[in-house]
Amino acid sequence: MDQAIPSSIQASVDNHPRAEKRHYSEVKKKKMTKQVEIKYTQLFIDNEFVDAVSGRKFPTLNPVNGNVIAEISEGDKADVDKAVNAAKQAFDRNSKWRQMDPYIRGQLMHKLADLITRDLNYIAALETLDNGKTYANAVEDIKASIACLRYYAGWCDKIQGSTIPTGDTNITLTRKEPVGVVGQIIPWNYPFMMAIWKWGPALTTGCTLVLKPAEQTPLSALYGAALTKEAGFPAGVINVIPGYGPTAGAAIAEHSEIQKVAFTGSTEVGHIIMAAAAKSNLKRVSLELGGKSPLVIFDDVDVKKAAEIAHDAIFSNHGQNCCAGSRTFVHSKIYDEFVKHAKQLALAKKVGDPFDSKTDQGPQIDQEMLDKIMDLINSGKKQGAVVETGGNRAGNTGYFVQPTVFSNVTDDMRIAKEEIFGPVQSILKFNTMAEVIERANRTNYGLASGVITKDINKALEFAQAVEAGSVWVNCYDAIAPQTPFGGFKQSGIGRDLGEESLKEYLEIKTISIKITKEN
Ligand code: NAP
Ligand code: MG
Repeated sequence: MDQAIPSSIQASVDNHPRAEKRHYSEVKKKKMTKQVEIKYTQLFIDNEFVDAVSGRKFPTLNPVNGNVIAEISEGDKADVDKAVNAAKQAFDRNSKWRQMDPYIRGQLMHKLADLITRDLNYIAALETLDNGKTYANAVEDIKASIACLRYYAGWCDKIQGSTIPTGDTNITLTRKEPVGVVGQIIPWNYPFMMAIWKWGPALTTGCTLVLKPAEQTPLSALYGAALTKEAGFPAGVINVIPGYGPTAGAAIAEHSEIQKVAFTGSTEVGHIIMAAAAKSNLKRVSLELGGKSPLVIFDDVDVKKAAEIAHDAIFSNHGQNCCAGSRTFVHSKIYDEFVKHAKQLALAKKVGDPFDSKTDQGPQIDQEMLDKIMDLINSGKKQGAVVETGGNRAGNTGYFVQPTVFSNVTDDMRIAKEEIFGPVQSILKFNTMAEVIERANRTNYGLASGVITKDINKALEFAQAVEAGSVWVNCYDAIAPQTPFGGFKQSGIGRDLGEESLKEYLEIKTISIKITKEN
């Protein structure tokens, strides 16, 4: 699309709570890098695409150039109410969904996975267009989403209760039942994969759901919604309401008939979600939040290989990764050699058009994130860290940032404390195990961590002591559908993925049956 932003959209942008932080005046009107047909732009409620009650729309932008890709219906409280009603009906005791054999539920999920597989290239293109991640990465995200869905499909008929000994006069058993209507609020960094991570356990357990994708990236979740209808999910089981956090998101968090809210996003908003749950109906809350994850590299390693692991740990997905290895702790004996390799790897990274197969890094998501990253980079420069490479915005169109490596980073610097969510590596120096454990844990976050060493004892000592939901030894980002993922401390509550996440969507009912003896 090559047109100016329509005034109705500009008005909704101007009225948005975060509008003052944005720079839509800078939106460029260049051609998109690739034309991708946009099929769905409305809210998905009760298996139908519908306009928002208010009739309002908001733009989703292409991060490559800031152009408007499409106008999206803007859901708010009235639409969330409609979606919750549909989800409640779908969850009725006598509904098709509730009466369904769990095996069939699993087949529906497999069917959805089949359809995603059929449309993999299209969904990946949609994701790259809306988010800016490289097409190759988007393909990997969609493949991982398919794997996640199939993993959860297999669980449907295996959610078992137990019998509990309470003496011969009673039989006591437990049943695991779906919590009911769930609300799900997700971020923009893995738009499709986050939706599937949330849908998987909710559908497996027999819940019905209302999902709000991030304002920046609504397109792939809407397409996924269309596929759920095609797969044959009953109306109302899955509802998708694009819109803004403080309106649509808050309506979900505050809704008195939503029994559980699953949130992935910033720690700041995590606090708001939990408060809203407390103030409304004490709905269950699971939170996957931010991180400042330590990756510790001892001096017994192949330094070049370690630098490669550390590079991917921070630069994958343009640094827009909740579990990014954003504090690289390197032993003083190999520090200089490590920095040299880290610099070379960052220098070799090709930044540009995410649809180009030679590109390693596309744009950041939006102007707000670009500004935040540049502010943190500038703070690093001011606070005395050494810029080994990068340190600037790349170009002046779109939201590109040069892959940046800082050495001589100390714990007190903002770049060592705050989540940057960008392609910025902060390399810190350490000497002893005790010191690095203490420093690694000196944060309110606790999402992930890594350690690189040939010494099994060192690896185990660190793995045991670190306060983080994941510890990756001699690797990073080793996430699979069956591995629980989530944070200690203010990185979250509860877990996504694996058997663990099923618990977030289940109530346990204890049934005690008295045996009346026949005389
Ligand atoms: P965010 O600002 O917290 O937004 C996440 C979602 O919450 C968006 O859909 C957002 O809506 C919505 N939201 C904002 N304010 C809200 C409110 N008052 N009530 C209800 N919902 C609200 O996070 P982000 O910047 O999009 O994503 C980056 C963050 O996510 C990082 O901190 C990252 O670490 C974290 N993250 C964590 C994980 C994990 O698994 N632990 C995974 C990925 C990302 P809008 O559309 O209006 O923004
Ligand atoms: Mg977008």
